[in-house]
Amino acid sequence: MMESSKVIVIGAGFSGLVAARELQTAGVNCEVFEARDRIGGRAWTDDRMGLPLEMGATWVHWFQPYMWGEITRYNQGIHTSPADNDAYWVTQGKVRKAKEGEADEKMMPALDVIYEGSDRFFPNPHDPLAILRDEYGADPNDVEAFKQFDHKSVMDIVNEAGVDQELQDMVEGFWSAAYIGDPRTGSSLMAKQWAALSDHSHKLVDEINLRFKLDNGMRGLYENIRDDLRCPVHLSSPVTKVEQTDSGVRVTLETGEVKEANKVISTVPLGALTNIEFDPPLSGDQQRVIGDKWNSTGAKIWIKIKGHHKIIAYAGADYPMSLIRSEYFMDDGTTVLVGFGADHSKVDLNSIEDAQRIMDTWDLGVEVIDSTGHDWVKDKWTQQVWATLRKGQFIDGWSHFIDSESDIHFAGADFAPGWRGVIVDGAIQSGIITARRVISQLREIGKL
Ligand SMILES: Cc1cc2nc3c(=O)[nH]c(=O)nc-3n(C[C@H](O)[C@H](O)[C@H](O)COP(=O)(O)OP(=O)(O)OC[C@H]3O[C@@H](n4cnc5c(N)ncnc54)[C@H](O)[C@@H]3O)c2cc1C
Repeated sequence: MMESSKVIVIGAGFSGLVAARELQTAGVNCEVFEARDRIGGRAWTDDRMGLPLEMGATWVHWFQPYMWGEITRYNQGIHTSPADNDAYWVTQGKVRKAKEGEADEKMMPALDVIYEGSDRFFPNPHDPLAILRDEYGADPNDVEAFKQFDHKSVMDIVNEAGVDQELQDMVEGFWSAAYIGDPRTGSSLMAKQWAALSDHSHKLVDEINLRFKLDNGMRGLYENIRDDLRCPVHLSSPVTKVEQTDSGVRVTLETGEVKEANKVISTVPLGALTNIEFDPPLSGDQQRVIGDKWNSTGAKIWIKIKGHHKIIAYAGADYPMSLIRSEYFMDDGTTVLVGFGADHSKVDLNSIEDAQRIMDTWDLGVEVIDSTGHDWVKDKWTQQVWATLRKGQFIDGWSHFIDSESDIHFAGADFAPGWRGVIVDGAIQSGIITARRVISQLREIGKL
């Protein structure tokens, strides 16, 4: 370890843990401060309902390049979620039913309209704003269309294309869950970038985000990464102030304790950046984005029902939950389902009555016996779910946190160029990129 350079990492989610590991590999002396009494952040495998249940991140895939690297490194296994369910959806107040494959096929024309242009806009989906750079030489019509699509939602697109109402209702269910917020207010460029990251195939978008789970859960990964760290990871240590000084940075903890370092990497989600005072204050653009927040207002729920039922069900953004799916068939004859909705305030995640109301959306006639979840929007250290962008924030939002002239750097899934927000992959990507940038800067100033 070289004592001449020191970096403080704020947050022990995937991004912070990976950034610390990267710094450590380059010989940087680092220290991690985490507000919670646990590591993992928005990845949290907890024992509930007789299962290791994921309160946050669940699904992984080999087309998540950074995540697959971790799965390989720590020799973790995967298995699939149940498929071939009975599909239900609500359209104009009526419940419709088909097999899951038939429902997927039915939605395809609407999804094709939503993904249109993904190849032109994102030839390299890990450099999502390349089209705006002059040297890229994009067709000016594509550049203009790209800018306009940032101010359109996926629902604006299907509406303007005259897609029939039933398909609009179905895709509203899917995108309320995927955007974990109201799909009518989110930027459609997110969906187009996800398509580009998935070889322009909806089947892959779905499979990459919702099909394969880790045998040991997310904790099988984040605990392994932590075990590889030789630097201290301080739990229950919220950071309240970050100051740029003449010689580097000064970080103040909630306890009043002050720490000095050459640089700081904050992996705090956008929603929780309000808990930290920055001196000098963050840029006007950064403050505006923090004030506007992301489009991420929803919730994830786990519901246990009597009997074994193979269900996938969709409902629009105004319903208490927009997508539910059977995940575990228990030996005691019960089924555990996972659900996603656009508005966390519509449901008490731990209320059996609310969960029953959710299941009744589709007249399924099933009896709820348990319900659980974590309200990430109410959580002081998150105040959002996974980062999904409002209209306009694809171009004028996350990228304001990428480069830093000062010694204060931002990392985390919220600011990842590739799979931003929705999967851990982006958290790892951003942690690596930011740590490498800091390492280069320390080398340039002779501190490493
Ligand atoms: C409900 C839900 C479902 C999801 N599903 C999936 C999925 O299926 N697959 C997938 O890959 N991803 C999924 N994600 C996304 C994934 O969880 C996130 O992208 C990823 O975990 C974010 O990692 P991060 O390190 O960027 O941020 P975080 O995990 O949020 O880590 C930031 C850390 O900073 C800490 N912190 C905040 N403020 C302070 C402070 N002032 N001082 C010190 N520490 C502070 C926080 O406590 C936290 O531990 C899901 C997320 C949620 C919420």
